[in-house]
Amino acid sequence: MEENKKNSCPKCGSALGEVVVTKSGKKLQRCSTGSYNKDTRQVEGCDYVKWLAEEPVQLDEKCPKCSAPLLMTMTRFGKKMKKCSTNKWDPKTKTASGCDFFEWVKATVTELDEICPTCGAHLVKVETPNGKRMKKCSTSGWDKETRSATGCNYIEWLK
Ligand SMILES: [Zn+2]
Ligand SMILES: [Zn+2]
Ligand SMILES: [Zn+2]
Repeated sequence: MEENKKNSCPKCGSALGEVVVTKSGKKLQRCSTGSYNKDTRQVEGCDYVKWLAEEPVQLDEKCPKCSAPLLMTMTRFGKKMKKCSTNKWDPKTKTASGCDFFEWVKATVTELDEICPTCGAHLVKVETPNGKRMKKCSTSGWDKETRSATGCNYIEWLK
């Protein structure tokens, strides 16, 4: 019974569809009576979507504030962050309790002993938190104010 409840739609009571993995690595289940119409860009039928939470992974790192173990969690938008395992969110009171330490996991950048074929500067290897790897020119950057890329635009995706 319990299992049945978990896999049925709370809106209409139909069974939930198969688990779908989005581009950013999130998992979701749609109501089996609903489907996404690519032409109209709208959900037809029941629009219930159940996001499956990524299980947080306990890390071998200690919180700099309270020295409890840190957890690696992923947001709904596919961003990874480390947070203190004593931090809890209470959905009823909408307040967080415990230690409030968290840190966004940024891409790791390694300098390479290779030269950019476009401009002759050094290349760097970038590994994003969601596992994408690329080589790009060390002169490339991102201007937050103008929201545009700066420097050389050479990029090579690695598999
Ligand atoms: Zn439904
Ligand atoms: Zn802490
Ligand atoms: Zn370059």
